[in-house]
Amino acid sequence: MANAFDVIVIGAGPAGYVAAIRCAQLGLKTACVEKWLDDSGNPKLGGTCLNVGCIPTKALLDSSERFEAMKLHGAEHGIVAEGLSADIPTMIARKDKVVSELTGGIEQLFKANGIEWLQGTGRVLPEKTVEVTAVDGSTSQATAANIIIATGSTPINIPPAPLFEDIVVDNAGALAWDSVPKTLGVIGAGVIGLEFGSVWRRLGSEVTVIEAQTDFLSVADKAIAKAALRGFQKQGLDIRLGALVKGTERTKDGVVISYTDAKGEQQITVDRLIVAVGRRPHTHNIAADELELLLDERGFVHVDHNCQTNVPNVWAIGDVVRGPMLAHKGAEEGVAVAERIAGKHGHINYDAIPNVIYTHPEISWVGKTEEEVKAEGIDYKVGSFPYAASGRAKAINETEGTVKVLARADNNRIIGVHIYGAQSSEILAQAVIAIEMEGTLDDLASTIFAHPTLSEGFHEAVLAADGRAIHVANRKKR
Ligand code: FAD
Ligand code: NAD
Repeated sequence: MANAFDVIVIGAGPAGYVAAIRCAQLGLKTACVEKWLDDSGNPKLGGTCLNVGCIPTKALLDSSERFEAMKLHGAEHGIVAEGLSADIPTMIARKDKVVSELTGGIEQLFKANGIEWLQGTGRVLPEKTVEVTAVDGSTSQATAANIIIATGSTPINIPPAPLFEDIVVDNAGALAWDSVPKTLGVIGAGVIGLEFGSVWRRLGSEVTVIEAQTDFLSVADKAIAKAALRGFQKQGLDIRLGALVKGTERTKDGVVISYTDAKGEQQITVDRLIVAVGRRPHTHNIAADELELLLDERGFVHVDHNCQTNVPNVWAIGDVVRGPMLAHKGAEEGVAVAERIAGKHGHINYDAIPNVIYTHPEISWVGKTEEEVKAEGIDYKVGSFPYAASGRAKAINETEGTVKVLARADNNRIIGVHIYGAQSSEILAQAVIAIEMEGTLDDLASTIFAHPTLSEGFHEAVLAADGRAIHVANRKKR
């Protein structure tokens, strides 16, 4: 007789583990199937985000940022640090400790909530059954009234740049290097390319980023992307746009990358190479053929607005379904699906999902870009405020960047906020709340912001949209 649950979640990344915890909180008997093994073969919860994604990258971004800040700006603050150097194995060990504390934390939360961890690879079978294949190949079965697929995503590999040992790597490989490559190539100037490119450049690599598109960060607001590109180039990231990789060859000198751009055929040689050209949904063998689980044209599990698949009582959430591949998006879908299974109302506002690229300065946005607003024919107001005019930014030596606010002209509703600037990921939360609560320019204009904070820049950008910013000259006065 198969083990019987109310809910089985397949995958324990931020979408799956959050769904499992919320299900358990709602009184549902819950199991979670997870197959992740770390480099030593130990089973781990937390998925891509905790093991090789959000968390380890932020740990290394922080270590490398502190190093660079001390190297470039310590003296300006009157801090003298002679013989400053980066101890890479210590940085990597700190990152590993952060990861293992957090993955261990999820394990504790599973225990505290009575969630059963079924270790192995899950597959949905007919009759609301999940088959679990353990590492040793043995199989077992469990049933559940509802099944949630949260199997996440994996890096896309491209034929011109096959991975090789620790020389040509994806995000997981680039988190494990214990020395700084003298020269580093990155294919893809997306989120991963910019975050990893920043880490290794700060630690001393000469970094060249090769990007197929001619527009830099085409998903971001154009003015913000332009400012960020200028900033990264000034920092020394060599970003080559409109460059299509044709092949890579390993030689005794490193990796030769051949690409074509507007000028014709080009080659560069680097010591190591990171391939960061996007991720694809992880759907391999997740359901028996007879269930006819529908995938969409891009290979994502097809779901409706409520994350329901075409198979009754089978749901799917996170990177394996449409929408941005972001941990918080998956986690919110997990909560919403748990609530729906428990007969409650699950809410997600896909128009208010925050995006952050954790470079320095950070790029953060929520809602529509100015280009989208124009394309949709919306009559709008726009206001921006430079970090250079912020007292706090001056005090902390972070004057690069801009806050930009977009609002509908007819009712002043905030519809987009875009920031390139230090700590903008934290400022962004205020913009997300404003959009979620259908806030207007007037609501924010009459809100008091603490002085001196970087958040005042958001307030001033709101005021600027009405031509009444205090700390910059306005184009039109009100
Ligand atoms: P995943 O985290 O991929 O988890 C899926 C889990 O399912 C995995 O543990 C996998 O082992 C398991 N699994 C798959 N198939 C099976 C099966 N058949 N049986 C059992 N288990 C299975 N997002 C952010 O929001 N902020 C960031 O700062 C950020 N940084 C990132 C940095 C990097 C380098 C990368 C690669 C990604 C980053 N992301 C970030 C994206 C984020 O990691 C993903 O959006 C998020 O992990 C998706 O969550 P998920 O639960 O859907 O999938
Ligand atoms: P991405 O989609 O952000 O960027 C990939 C880039 O590679 C694109 O600019 C694309 O034009 C380029 N590209 C594709 N094929 C190419 C080729 N053959 N040659 C040159 N360039 C090519 O993908 P990513 O950076 O791999 O990240 C994957 C996902 O992980 C993203 O969806 C992102 O949301 C998520 N992620 C998020 C964060 C964060 O939230 N801070 C951090 C890292 C990753």
